[in-house]
Amino acid sequence: QNTINQIAAGEVIDRPASIVKELMENAIDAGATMISVEIKDGGTSLIRITDNGSGIEKDDIKVAFLRHATSKIKTALDLISVSSLGFRGEALSSIASVCQVELITKTEDAITGIRYKIEGGKEVTFEEIGAPEGTTFIVKNIFFNTPARRKFLKTAQTEAGYISEIVEKIALSHPEISISFINNNQTKIHTSGNGNLKDVIYNIYGRDIANNLLEINCSNEFIKMTGYIGKAIISKGNRSFENYFINGRYIKSNIISKAIEDGYKFILMQHKYPFTAINFEIDQDLLDVNVHPAKMELRFRKGEAIYPFIMDSIHDTLVEKPN
Ligand code: ADP
Ligand code: MG
Repeated sequence: QNTINQIAAGEVIDRPASIVKELMENAIDAGATMISVEIKDGGTSLIRITDNGSGIEKDDIKVAFLRHATSKIKTALDLISVSSLGFRGEALSSIASVCQVELITKTEDAITGIRYKIEGGKEVTFEEIGAPEGTTFIVKNIFFNTPARRKFLKTAQTEAGYISEIVEKIALSHPEISISFINNNQTKIHTSGNGNLKDVIYNIYGRDIANNLLEINCSNEFIKMTGYIGKAIISKGNRSFENYFINGRYIKSNIISKAIEDGYKFILMQHKYPFTAINFEIDQDLLDVNVHPAKMELRFRKGEAIYPFIMDSIHDTLVEKPN
């Protein structure tokens, strides 16, 4: 049973960044308005995530760590709906099977909080403790019991980079949540949660990018595109500046990236990777839901309808407001 869990865990949890992603998404689902992410050594020795969300009821704590335990109603379509980011109740059980996990949580109605420790899927502690409302996860010694997997981790700096990217994308897709990221005791990101996307961009990417943005606001009968694109001068040698979200969930999509880049190509006369932070509201019928959600790669049923619209919208925005 333990081995099965460890193998299953590998699908969801392949590196520290996937733990951060799952735990942050849980915090968002729990209605948090504040999430703090702290890591040490690229997350391999410590990940601490604190939220001020609903907390977990005492009786639900152990259950939440069982495989396929989820309090969220799941259909394939839920996966891309705004309401719930979790999808199959596998994250907590997977994390606990390959790490040392400590959870401190308190709901609004509870008199005290609970501290629960679980290591390699085995309970270590379950006790009452004073705690603020919300939930803290402390995850230590990732893959301590699966050395083969531990070997595949990259340097602490590289793993920290992956985590930073996850935190950035979640912060960009949730300007209404105050998000902080602390790496080896240094605060790297701290967003206010005031709901202003431009402020989040400023916080993460700095003045040069935040002061050179064009607002995008385009829609047709299937898609609504809102957010910011960088002026033509801003670009990078890879796609890491291309941030986009579907119904509030950040994803990767070849077709969207290509459409964005091709929209710029008309202006720049060369292929570049621009800065974007765009949310797409897309008709559910156009989304292919048969995709492994942890991979964040989404496919479309009518790619041929999506591509030209995005490309033209980018192009037109750059032409209409070049400065
Ligand atoms: P899923 O998110 O798919 O439901 P998870 O394994 O990620 O599955 O989480 C299991 C359950 O634990 C969730 O359904 C939720 O009820 C609870 N939970 C996890 N994290 C939190 C949190 N930060 N705040 C409140 N509840 C949480
Ligand atoms: Mg989840």
